[in-house]
Amino acid sequence: MRPFAFSRADSVDHAAHQTAPTAAFVAGGTTLLDLVKLDVMRPTALVDINTLPLKRVERLDDGRLKIGALVTNTDLAHHEEVKAHYPVLSQALLAGASTQLRNMATTAGNVMQRTRCPYYRDPAAACNRRAPGSGCDARDGINRMHAVLGGSTDCVAVHPSDMCVAMAAIGATLTLKGPDGEREVAFGEFHRLPGDTPHIEHDLRDGELITAITLDAPLVPAGSHYLKLRDRASYEFALASCAAQLSLDGELIGEARVALGGVATKPWRCAEAEAALVGQPAEIASFERAAEIALADARPLAHNGFKVTLAKQAIVRALREAARCAGETQEASA
Ligand code: SF4
Repeated sequence: MRPFAFSRADSVDHAAHQTAPTAAFVAGGTTLLDLVKLDVMRPTALVDINTLPLKRVERLDDGRLKIGALVTNTDLAHHEEVKAHYPVLSQALLAGASTQLRNMATTAGNVMQRTRCPYYRDPAAACNRRAPGSGCDARDGINRMHAVLGGSTDCVAVHPSDMCVAMAAIGATLTLKGPDGEREVAFGEFHRLPGDTPHIEHDLRDGELITAITLDAPLVPAGSHYLKLRDRASYEFALASCAAQLSLDGELIGEARVALGGVATKPWRCAEAEAALVGQPAEIASFERAAEIALADARPLAHNGFKVTLAKQAIVRALREAARCAGETQEASA
């Protein structure tokens, strides 16, 4: 491990003026400290932001839910507002990592977590994301866990978050604070596709930090479900996951939100599949059509062709459960 300077930010403004490109903010540290120890990340300065006042969850007047950047994954999963109005987010959070990690990991840190591609975490391997221009050992290597959607010649690493899949389906806005002031970015535009610059992972400028994530107002009346398929039942990343939300208009689907995890290079919202669901009967045939549309552009690698089938099944099962919940909600409100 290389030496680095360490300091504590005593205000958001103070933190937002830590502009050195080689500085990094640390909160829970559940990704960053591992990568520093592995010599994958080499910050010259760490700025501890744990004492900043960014730990509140509050309902806004317009019905949205504002989540402070430092709210832990555990606190968010068990928050009454989240359980009542965004159960898909609570389910996704509880499907991620372990209890100990969720107790430490923060909302913003979850958004910022790095890929689990094993070649990225091995400084001896060629990896365009870690060392631009060095190549990609995953392309012709062991790529069973890699992406079938959103990849490029330069990188096919999967975004590992569960929480972000639920947020992609719900819709959200990030608030960012930096040396030039505050700005907002739509959640779907924050993470970048790898293209030919996989080392640029998100829309965060030097010195900026995430201060809050505000969820769109919930669908009403609606049902939702997060389904995660993986090699073992806990403490494992997704092979394929799906966050689904539906509202019903009688027997027909009113609105639909579908996002995928474990199969794409960023949290993957399936807009065309959603559009195909609207106005259709809430039944398996509609869900299967949506799944085909969602995976139509899939480009499997040598070892991960099974993910295409798995992701389709995840969509159908998540939508079926969301529809069941939406039906119950509709009955209860009739
Ligand atoms: Fe690196 Fe991406 Fe290739 Fe993995 S898939 S080795 S992260 S460039």
